[in-house]
Amino acid sequence: MAFKFNLENVSKLKLDLLTLCSGCKKVEIEGQWYSEWENPKAYDFLMDNYFHHPGKAKVTHTVCPSCLKEHYPELMKKDKINHS
Ligand SMILES: [Zn+2]
Repeated sequence: MAFKFNLENVSKLKLDLLTLCSGCKKVEIEGQWYSEWENPKAYDFLMDNYFHHPGKAKVTHTVCPSCLKEHYPELMKKDKINHS
């Protein structure tokens, strides 16, 4: 089931750890990467509620698999997870 980042869904999120891709703003939830920002305000909401309130949840910035592949192919090789 695709997770849509509308405001309603985002406001329901109860995450202890929020993982963001610093490249494309995808968000990882339970091992899946989501980029379907139905409403840009949902992203702002997420930032307001998580990023700007570090006590509420930990936010880590990382690089999602597709950005890793695009920008850091050497790392992909090292990890042996390059399937292209
Ligand atoms: Zn990315």
